[in-house]
Amino acid sequence: MTEEHLKKIVEKIKQAFGTVDFIPLHVPKFIGNEKKYVDDTIDSTFVSSVGKYVDRFEEMVKEFTGASAGIATSNGTVALQVALYLCGVKHNDEVITQALTFVATPNAITHVGATPIFIDSSRDTMGMCPEKLKEFLETQTFQKDGICCNKVTHRHITACVPMHTFGHPVDILKIKALCEEFHLTLVEDAAESLGSYVGNTHTGLFGKLGTLSFNGNKTITTGGGGMIITNDIEMAKRAKHITTTSKIPHPWEFFHDEVGFNFRLPNLNAALGCAQMETLPNFLQNKRILAIDYQIFF
Ligand SMILES: *Cc1c(COP(=O)(O)O)cnc(C)c1O
Repeated sequence: MTEEHLKKIVEKIKQAFGTVDFIPLHVPKFIGNEKKYVDDTIDSTFVSSVGKYVDRFEEMVKEFTGASAGIATSNGTVALQVALYLCGVKHNDEVITQALTFVATPNAITHVGATPIFIDSSRDTMGMCPEKLKEFLETQTFQKDGICCNKVTHRHITACVPMHTFGHPVDILKIKALCEEFHLTLVEDAAESLGSYVGNTHTGLFGKLGTLSFNGNKTITTGGGGMIITNDIEMAKRAKHITTTSKIPHPWEFFHDEVGFNFRLPNLNAALGCAQMETLPNFLQNKRILAIDYQIFF
């Protein structure tokens, strides 16, 4: 496709959507109880790190995705960082991800002290190509004491993080099988795929842990926010504990039993999230209609 040709197509899309300057990836919409719930947090003074909306929001996402647990965090990047940390990714490890993703994915890998390995994305899914992953694992790695190691660097490759680009699921079953064969922990970056399923399973629930983002350009928004979803109850407990400063519950004593993170989602943001979750089915339906429009247009 020539640049001229591309420009013409972009012009046509702009016309079709009645926009003049640019085609936005996503525009947040607040058409439900957002103001009511946010006002409620202000009236109650519970705008910060504790409050009923955090629990309610976690419950709603858990219910919607079918996960056993959801742990709200301050954004999607730190959700992924904690997920990798809890899966035992250590300093000087390597973590596999895909070439086409948002910078948050390799950033989170780097924040736990690991180095990202970029596998090519497939044209069909825009996500990690299972054939390229297989080729890499077969030719560039070896197993030592049940750990996958890089032939060149001799470092441990501990996890694999595919990402579901714009909500289009990667070929997750093939990737999961490869992760099992080569002893990699599967962590899904499902930041862009709230509402996307493979079979009856929500994206993010194929591996040990999955992470969501509620940034302003995502399917729903909390202003800023994220969540870890999982079917592993023990992992969920660890995730809640460690993202909320690792404090042992006590009426007045501050006892923290390990080095924790302050990655809590404020109640104010969670309130917005609860209202957005109520409208989510509507958002998804609109997206599907838009996708059909695009298909017809092209
Ligand atoms: C949005 C996004 C994230 C998380 O972003 P935050 O802004 O930290 O919530 C992570 N990965 C991908 C692929 C994303 O698109």
